[in-house]
Amino acid sequence: MTLDETKLKVLNYAEKYAARNNYKLNPDPEALDLVIEGLAKRREKFGPQYCPCRIVTGNKEQDKKIICPCVYHKDEIEENGMCHCALFFKKY
Ligand code: SF4
Repeated sequence: MTLDETKLKVLNYAEKYAARNNYKLNPDPEALDLVIEGLAKRREKFGPQYCPCRIVTGNKEQDKKIICPCVYHKDEIEENGMCHCALFFKKY
């Protein structure tokens, strides 16, 4: 699979997840593309789509928390209006 194909899969996941949870994706197309590409690269390298903005420790239990959607995003969106990577945004 090419990187572009993986990116499409990640984008598809992100769109569905955002719609189901009443979030929106980053409205800046370039910024959105950067996060999607980061996730796609992690997916290609590791299998799970680890958060591109966090460190993969190699400890599976620990790293489970940062598979997108990570355990932190809901609180981050609530507090800052967006997740740490600026993928998911709160709808106002
Ligand atoms: S910070 Fe955002 S992009 Fe990163 S894993 Fe969490 S939800 Fe996904």
